Amino acid sequence: PSSQRKNGEESPNVFSPGLLDLQSFDTELLSEMTVPGLYDSSSLFHPVRGRSFDGSEPFISTNKQTGRAVLPDNNLLKSFPADKEKTSSVAKIKVVVRKRPLNKKELAKNEEDIIETYSNALTVHETKLKVDLTEYVEKHEFVFDAVLNEEVSNDEVYRETVEPIVPIIFERTKATCFAYGQTGSGKTYTMNPLPLKASRDILRLMHHTYRNQGFQLFVSFFEIYGGKLFDLLSDRKKLCMREDGKQQVCIVGLQEYEVSDVESIKDLIEKGNATRSTGTTGANEESSRSHAILQLAIKRSIDGTESKPPRLVGKLSFIDLAGSERGADTTDNDKQTRMEGAEINKSLLALKECIRALDNDKSHIPFRGSKLTEVLRDSFVGNSRTVMISCISPSSGSCEHTLNTLRYADRVKSLSKGNAPKK
Ligand code: ADP
Ligand code: MG
Repeated sequence: PSSQRKNGEESPNVFSPGLLDLQSFDTELLSEMTVPGLYDSSSLFHPVRGRSFDGSEPFISTNKQTGRAVLPDNNLLKSFPADKEKTSSVAKIKVVVRKRPLNKKELAKNEEDIIETYSNALTVHETKLKVDLTEYVEKHEFVFDAVLNEEVSNDEVYRETVEPIVPIIFERTKATCFAYGQTGSGKTYTMNPLPLKASRDILRLMHHTYRNQGFQLFVSFFEIYGGKLFDLLSDRKKLCMREDGKQQVCIVGLQEYEVSDVESIKDLIEKGNATRSTGTTGANEESSRSHAILQLAIKRSIDGTESKPPRLVGKLSFIDLAGSERGADTTDNDKQTRMEGAEINKSLLALKECIRALDNDKSHIPFRGSKLTEVLRDSFVGNSRTVMISCISPSSGSCEHTLNTLRYADRVKSLSKGNAPKK
């Protein structure tokens, strides 16, 4: 009966094909089995369909007459009633803008707030000069999924961006949350509290909804600086990236800590932050030239296979990107700075291209464009979600950088389905 099929959780032996997302099931766990009565001509559900782990080959064969299908291991389905509706209700790409308040320095310089915000739109008031040197104001309007003004707290930012994604990490989703913007626009301020808030919710789910189901939470934290990887939880140990035969990316030697309480996660995050490339504060701050990547991985030991290492279920990555203005350091006098600038420029452009390919369901995603996108490769394959938080300063002195940030965000957004690409 269809009422049974709608809920795999209550009737573990009756599968509901339309609700399964098998894209990322590991092929090793597959077995051919007969699913009686799975398909009938009046079925309301779509036939089971899936692709192999790397997204290329279809591996689920279905036969409407016999009801024979290649499905994942029975046990896995029983405890994993992949709720496709829940997963698909979260947008593939979400672009949010966060405006910070004017700071003391800006106020002291009498800089004005030139950003006017509405519910999910904003206007930049750019002061320009005519040829006769009289001033006029040019208005630039932008629309995003959400615009968070200077009164919005970090709690509300979390609720708007990451909170909706947390439950679907248990449904084999890989999600990435980026903070983009010029140095001093609030990226770190915005990103810092998010992983801890997310961990709290993940642990809550693990200890209640998914209690005793073998889920484990792991934390890793590293940095990409000048195209090289450094482990922030292991004294900035230099790391190498390797790709295995299945084109899975692996960061050799990256420390991953299993965590089961909020306090230890907090300690790890603080430790990692303290280890980030730091230097003199201000525009030349070293951390503005690095991308910091904190990953929360949910893994699972499957019943009866405790001897095997736990398998990855889902992943949530938080990326505090290098200052967007750093990509323009390509004419600097210092060779090192120039090279870093070129790498940052490349990574921010490649990132945009990858998100764009992702949203168009392109089979080819241009990961190889940069170290950043190569490292994030597995987060762009299969069932993935992206949240971009574009951070902006309100001040007139940052107008040009702010417009650049908003245009970048707009490019990412306008590529989303349902929004015709702009000229
Ligand atoms: P970025 O990481 O983009 O270089 P930061 O996050 O370090 O910028 O922010 C620069 C400064 O502005 C910090 O002192 C930070 O505390 C402050 N700041 C940023 N965003 C906000 C905000 N929304 N509310 C209050 N202060 C903020
Ligand atoms: Mg920062």
